[in-house]
Amino acid sequence: MLKENLANVEANICTACRKVKRERSEVTLIAVSKTKPVEMLQKVYDCGIREFGENKAQEICDKYDKLPSDIRWHMIGHLQRNKVKNIIDKVCMIHSLDSYRLAEEINIQAKKHNLVMPVLIQVNIANEDTKFGVNSQDAVLLAEEVCHLNNIQVRGLMTVAPFVDNPEDNRQYFQQLKQLAVDIDAKNMDNISMEILSMGMTGDYLTAIEEGATLVRVGTGIFGERYYGKNTQ
Ligand SMILES: *Cc1c(COP(=O)(O)O)cnc(C)c1O
Repeated sequence: MLKENLANVEANICTACRKVKRERSEVTLIAVSKTKPVEMLQKVYDCGIREFGENKAQEICDKYDKLPSDIRWHMIGHLQRNKVKNIIDKVCMIHSLDSYRLAEEINIQAKKHNLVMPVLIQVNIANEDTKFGVNSQDAVLLAEEVCHLNNIQVRGLMTVAPFVDNPEDNRQYFQQLKQLAVDIDAKNMDNISMEILSMGMTGDYLTAIEEGATLVRVGTGIFGERYYGKNTQ
């Protein structure tokens, strides 16, 4: 089933790229494996996937040692400052930068490990009460604030678009995120680049790719539905 799901997602990505004349190589698929057991991740790995996304620091730590070391782990969920030290040497990118205080902590921990951590600013592009992320104006301010931190490097923007039945409803938000990236890029700030747009999930990744996504985060479309027990999410 995983193999067929992956083949299906891959075909969809190719179709979306072709539709807007983008190269397949411009889009990276992140398999969002939260709540799923390591055996399932291993199967997806065996199909050739190397990028995995998790939304909890603890889950990354639990899975990290049980799976091959060439996996590129993406932290895509809300990150508390006291958890940064646990994942700083395990993840290849943090998609959820949403405050200067978090940036400072990532910078401190990255410095300890002598690395520069790529980060994305998470933008709550539809201004939903329930979503993490900064609004568009604050994204610009945050970029200006963090550009002097030497051990983090802002590489772009991330958003979790509204949950909708029709992905067309989110096209406007993907366009807005893209435009925001263009606007921030035009300011030519030190240490800030905007080549990465992490947008699009199972319900809307085709539309996101059409609007310029470079990273798509697909969970359900690969692993199937998630079942949460009590006291989790
Ligand atoms: C869970 C999650 C996803 C994947 O969601 P699906 O709808 O299952 O594809 C993507 N991004 C973030 C930030 C998530 O938490």
